[in-house]
Amino acid sequence: MSDSSPATSESKPAHSNLATRILIGLALGAIVGSILNWKLAPHGGAPASEAYERVRWVADNIATPVGQVFLRMLFMVVVPLVFCSLFLGVSGLGDLRKLGKIGARTLAWFGITTGMAVVLGLVLMNTFEPGKKIDRAKAEEIRKEFKGEADQKVEAAKEGTGFSINTFVNIVPKNVLRSASDDRDTLGLIFFALILGAAATAFPPERIKPFVDFCQVLYDLCVKVLGYAMKLAPLGVAGLVFNVTSKLGIDVLVALGYYVFVAMLGLFIHQFLVLGLLAKWMGGWPIFDFFRRSRLLMTTAFSTSSSNATLPTTINTAVTEFNVPRPIAGFVLPLGATMNMNGTALFEGAVVLFLAQVIGMELSLGQQVVVVCLAVLTAIGAAGVPGGSLPLLALVLTQVGIPADMLALVLGVDRLVDMARTVPNVTSDLVCAMWVAKKERESTS
Ligand code: ASP
Repeated sequence: MSDSSPATSESKPAHSNLATRILIGLALGAIVGSILNWKLAPHGGAPASEAYERVRWVADNIATPVGQVFLRMLFMVVVPLVFCSLFLGVSGLGDLRKLGKIGARTLAWFGITTGMAVVLGLVLMNTFEPGKKIDRAKAEEIRKEFKGEADQKVEAAKEGTGFSINTFVNIVPKNVLRSASDDRDTLGLIFFALILGAAATAFPPERIKPFVDFCQVLYDLCVKVLGYAMKLAPLGVAGLVFNVTSKLGIDVLVALGYYVFVAMLGLFIHQFLVLGLLAKWMGGWPIFDFFRRSRLLMTTAFSTSSSNATLPTTINTAVTEFNVPRPIAGFVLPLGATMNMNGTALFEGAVVLFLAQVIGMELSLGQQVVVVCLAVLTAIGAAGVPGGSLPLLALVLTQVGIPADMLALVLGVDRLVDMARTVPNVTSDLVCAMWVAKKERESTS
């Protein structure tokens, strides 16, 4: 899926501008909303003044709809994006039997390191509980504000994705079209795409090519539409954050700063401790030397926020700095840029827990296990472009019963977290290629 990288790399300066505009949108929405809340909101059960009623009217009839249009633009591309990304990733593996060990090792690496990253994110969020850094009365107010919608979603989620033996049975869809049209049944769609991709590897490439080309074009189109949606982001974020802060005040934003700190801490630990140790143990490279040689890779990923745009650098680093044979780099790394996103999965798990804490929703261990599975699977389906995981994150939130509007809170600060999570995304691909190459060398010597 590196085909979409030109669009991404071209738009780099525009993307930095966009990030600034989103931040301005967040700041404006937050400042105006908080001031109005502070000045006008009724306290201690007093009736709302006429002026505050007007603020609420603006929040409900102008700010929220603008934000909703932005969120819907993100949601809109989820089904084709997930389907095409997974289908292309798996069908691109070629003959599964021929690939044998290399393919199996690569996929095992993707699954295990992504799972480890989500668990780390969840452990940190459970330990620091940034979403609870809001005073109790305020949290209760926030919970009430979103309660109706959250309860509805929780009920709906229970039917489909509550944790039981059916969680596993339901992964296999009865009707894939119904599964695609039901935003609570993404796993069915994911399963279908994966198995269709696996089936494609059993056919001669000429036979499959038209469909692969179709999926590639559809994927690129979706990434383009995602770009349009992001253009709306400054306004959308301003509207959504204005809505939240005008109703709930500034406390929510204080918790947000703490969330950013904990999420960055998790990404830092995964990058420099977990992946550093894996590079040493599995890739056979001393930790400091590994990071010294990966400097260009890390800075490229950080500045572009895109695994796809970083792909040429990832391949170059693997081949020239770590002696990974070209065929192995050429197989593992493009697949990794599409499917292996450790940082993204860590971030998804962390956001779900943070927002659940903000609205005062307790996620049981079983629900957290569901979050781990969803984060791993949706990270596989996320596009390797700036903000590529956001539509899928909206989907995970909905599945566990958190109103998708809450996403607005973290969107405003997402540029920074996106830059940081892209670094472990690509570093994990590199270590995987080093490990696969080392194993191949061992088996042939
Ligand atoms: N920006 C990330 C990447 O390209 C994807 C995401 O987490 O939004 O790897």
